[in-house]
Parts: sequence; structure tokens; C-alpha cells
Amino acid sequence: MNRPDVEVVGSGPNGLAAAVTMARAGLTVHVHEQADTPGGGLRGEALFDSEVWHDVCAAVHPMAAASAFFREFDLGARGVDLLHPPVSYAHPLDGGVSGLARRDLAQTAAGLGADGPHWRRLMAPLVRHSRGVTDFVLSGQRTLPEDPAAPALLGPRLLNHLLRGSGLRTEAGRALLTGVAAHAVGRLPSLPGAAIALLLGHLAHASGWPLPRGGSVRIAEALVADLRAHGGVVHTGHRVTDLAELDAPVIMLDTTPKGLLALAGNRLPASYRRALGRFRYGPGAAKADFLVSGPVPWADPEVGRAGTVHLGGTRAQTLAAENAAARGEPTDEPFVLLVDPAVADPGRAVRGRRPLWAYAHVPNGDDRDPVPLITRRIERYAPGFADTVIAARGISAAAYERYNPNYPGGDIGAGAITLTQSVFRPVPTWNPYRTPLAGVYLCSASTPPGPSVHGMCGHLAARAALRREFHLSTPPPLSPGGGAKSRPTARRTA
Ligand SMILES: Cc1cc2nc3c(=O)[nH]c(=O)nc-3n(C[C@H](O)[C@H](O)[C@H](O)COP(=O)(O)OP(=O)(O)OC[C@H]3O[C@@H](n4cnc5c(N)ncnc54)[C@H](O)[C@@H]3O)c2cc1C
Repeated sequence: MNRPDVEVVGSGPNGLAAAVTMARAGLTVHVHEQADTPGGGLRGEALFDSEVWHDVCAAVHPMAAASAFFREFDLGARGVDLLHPPVSYAHPLDGGVSGLARRDLAQTAAGLGADGPHWRRLMAPLVRHSRGVTDFVLSGQRTLPEDPAAPALLGPRLLNHLLRGSGLRTEAGRALLTGVAAHAVGRLPSLPGAAIALLLGHLAHASGWPLPRGGSVRIAEALVADLRAHGGVVHTGHRVTDLAELDAPVIMLDTTPKGLLALAGNRLPASYRRALGRFRYGPGAAKADFLVSGPVPWADPEVGRAGTVHLGGTRAQTLAAENAAARGEPTDEPFVLLVDPAVADPGRAVRGRRPLWAYAHVPNGDDRDPVPLITRRIERYAPGFADTVIAARGISAAAYERYNPNYPGGDIGAGAITLTQSVFRPVPTWNPYRTPLAGVYLCSASTPPGPSVHGMCGHLAARAALRREFHLSTPPPLSPGGGAKSRPTARRTA
């Protein structure tokens, strides 16, 4: 077989975004994946019943619905239906009270009582400038924002959030915002937590928190189909253990710094190895997949209209649980994220049996079986839930790394989301994607803009490689119609 121009190690959304971008530039791209199927964090499985599909990792896609890469790639035009639940996310509290972030901002504000006007003032300008705000946060953080309103809106809100807390007064309003901040999986309150709360929080009322009909694997299938249509090849079932196995002049690594160190070892200069060694991994995720006999019996039935549910209790309880996990202290009441996919996608329930997805934030490397822990958390806000469970499977934080080496100790962010590591990811350098090895690039969530299914790490890494290695400064079109005629062709100069 002819030598490819580019080899990609890892087929997560970032590896595939890099592969698609480079194949569309006219390059021959081969992807190597250790698992038997491509997709990384987008994979799923029929765990207990051959007709009921479970997302093993990512389930809900506010970032894929909003990111510049997927906007141009256009999932809808490729047959991936993004389905929106009426409530983007909910946060139940004791006593049947809950905070509800509805798709509609006005309805959300109305439901938040005394906090309604504040919520509207916080979110409405971000919703109006959603594209600019999203592109600013999901950039490589090395270019000026296209919409100058984005930093002007985010800056004061972030400062206010840090200095004055959320500014919200009701328990439900405060918990609702803190639950989104907890997606930063680390110490709270923090600047990255506040940024994530504003980004994800406003997206709930803008492009939404949708679920792909049939599961996240549909996104992976669309990326692989486009790659193949542009001549790309995906090899599965083989873990690359040394860069020497690869032949292409340009290599894109959808791996963590730990993965890069294992693949390149002493070929990397000692100073870069030391810098990679300083990269910190965050708390772990421990996941429970349930097959249940019906919808979750929430004490507040409105919670049952939400695609995503945050189980963290009050703001103070959520902060305590997140900080304990960050300190490496196991608790019996961790923060839990829960998704009932059939709320948005009724086809996911077969003969009344439905998948239920939930994971807890726990200390890195925690090896406890999360099923009892998570079941108790759900029972607290949905008494009787345990009686609906037909089958369950737990993956501890320690076990997640065996499933996917990009989750060291169960860190599903592929690196802690601290202030420094939000910008200098994985090392302090202007071009975070390039490594000191000629033609070798990192393109995983360990690079800016970090974790989630947005494809931006892979896309930006591919653009960096196209510029430097192939002298192609205009990125290729990604839309389904962007065919060969309009495609710039990359040529490598020796
Ligand atoms: C439980 C859980 C829930 C999540 N929920 C969401 C969610 O709802 N929404 C969301 O947006 N994000 C979610 N995420 C995060 C999201 O899945 C990741 O941020 C995203 O998948 C990162 O993409 P990536 O391409 O960088 O890496 P990954 O998706 O992790 O892919 C890396 C791939 O590289 C392969 N690989 C690594 N090393 C090698 C090697 N040496 N040889 C061959 N193959 C290799 C791995 O097998 C893997 O397939 C979740 C993650 C988890 C685990």
C-alpha cells in the first residue's frame, strides 16, 4: 500500500476531525484505532438487551451543536438528527423543588421566581451573541475574537461570578448554575468553572443540549463516512505502541501527553518531556449504565422532561463534593450527571425498557464500583428508582483508563481544566499542537480548547499542520457540498 501523507493515532472526535480536515485538503489519511470500532468517546454498546443502545461515554451534545467545526461539517445534512428535550438540564433539590433550564429563556426565567430577572440579564446577551461567544471560548485562544462583544460580555460576568458568587439568591437558581460549572470537573469556584457555566449555561437557551437520534455513535459514523468519501482509511483493533510503527511524514496524535510520552519516549527532548510530565490530570469519572423498566420516578415530575439532570444538591453541597473529588477524597455523595436519552429520543426505549446513563465525579484512580453510589444519589431525588432497575453495569474511574487510554485515572477531560491548563494545554507554548518531533502533532482534548465533543482540537491541530507541513493557509471546506472543485490541494515541500 502507498505511504499515506498523514497517519492519525486515535479515532475520537478530535482524531476524526483532524483526519477529515486533512483528507478534504487532498491528503491521503490513515487512522489507527486500538478499539474494534472507531469513535473514541462517541462509541456505544447494546449492553444488556440487543435492542437497547447505551452511550458508553458522551451522550449530550451542546458543543457539537454549536462548534465552528460541526456547524460547517453540518451534521443535520448528513442525516444526524439532533433531538432537543424540552428542558435542557435540571437540578433537583430535596423536597421536590428543582431548578429547570428550559430551552426557552423567558420560560426559564419565569420558573426561577426571584432569580428570574437575574438569570435573564446573565444569559440573554450571551444568547444574542451565542456564535461569537462560542467561537471565542472554543478557539485555540491565540487569535483575536471575531465578535468583539464576546470578551466584552464574558469578562465582567466572569469577574462578577468569581468575586460575588453567582449573584443568584434562591437555592434552586444557585444550584442550577453551580451544576453547570461542575462540568469543569475540578475545584470550584474557579475561573474555568465560571467560563464553562456561562458557555454551557447560555447554550441551553441557544443551540441547545441535544442528543443524536440513535446515540452519539451517529456522529462518529458521519465523520468516518466523510473521511472514507475523501479516500481516508480507518484501521481498528491495533494499539500503536511506538511512533516507529508509523510511516507517514505527518502524524497526528489523538492521545494525552502520557500517550505521547509512551509513543515517543526518549526521542523527545528532555525539556519537553519534563514539561509534559508537569501536565496534571483531573478527578475521575465513574459511570453506571442502567437498563430500566420506565422513566425515572422523579419527585418533581418536571425533571423528567430534562435531557440532562445534575444531582449535586445545593450550591454548597455541589461545591463540597467537587472540591473533595479534586482533593482526592472519596465521598458518599458525589456530584452525578444523569441522562435519560429516551426523553428526547423515544426510539431509544424498546418495549418499555430504556437505557439510563449516569456518572459521578470521584477522585482520580478511584476503584469503587459506582453502581451503589449512583443508585443512592438517584433514589434521593427519585424514590422508587431502584425498583425500576433491570440490569446495571459500573465502570470505576480506574477502569475507564483500560477502556480508553485517553482517560488517565478516569480523567475524562484528558487533563485537568485549571486556569493554566485551559490556555497552556499541554505545555506553555504558542503552538500547542506542534511537538518538537518533526511532523508530529497532538490533536486530542489535551490541547486547546479542551474536552467535549466539538472537534475543535483536531480541526485546529490539522490547520496548524496544513499550514506548516503543507503550506496551505486556507482550510478546506467541510460542508457536504464542499467538493473537490472548491478544495485547495495540499502539497508537502521536502
Ligand atoms: C463518561 C463520559 C461522559 C462524557 N459525556 C460527554 C457528553 O455528554 N458530551 C460531550 O461533549 N463530551 C462528553 N464526554 C467527553 C468526550 O467524550 C471527550 O471530551 C471527547 O471524546 C474527546 O475526544 P478526543 O478525540 O480528544 O479523545 P477520545 O474520544 O478519548 O478518543 C481517543 C481515541 O484514541 C484511541 N487511542 C488512544 N491511544 C491510542 C493508541 N496508542 N493507539 C491506537 N488508538 C489509541 C482511543 O482508543 C480512543 O478511541 C464524556 C466522556 C466520558 C468518558
